[in-house]
Amino acid sequence: MAAKKAPTKTQLRKVRAELLEERDQLLVQVKGLDVEADVKYWRDGGFDDDPADSGSASFERETAQSLSKHARGILTQIDDAVRRIDNGTYGVCERCGNRIDSDRLEALPYARLCLDCKRHDETGR
Ligand SMILES: [Zn+2]
Repeated sequence: MAAKKAPTKTQLRKVRAELLEERDQLLVQVKGLDVEADVKYWRDGGFDDDPADSGSASFERETAQSLSKHARGILTQIDDAVRRIDNGTYGVCERCGNRIDSDRLEALPYARLCLDCKRHDETGR
């Protein structure tokens, strides 16, 4: 396996810009989902012009809420990644200190763990 090199400044700048862009999109998404959850809440409260839909209204609301929560979680991770870019620790696994694969970072720019540690995490430490 080839040695993993630290990303160049140019690469970091690009990643940082992409992260900020994704962050903006997520913020819009979160806002939309919160509004949706709100609307569904009120619609759930009795006023419903689509009776066929009423049974699933609270389910939809919960879905919107959980999507919103998920998006917020990603937002936190993006903020974190931007901070790591700024302090020079971006792309380093938080657990083992090894460089995270560039393929992995490309797929998940805000990854905090290398693939090995992530797998370890998922299979239950
Ligand atoms: Zn690791």
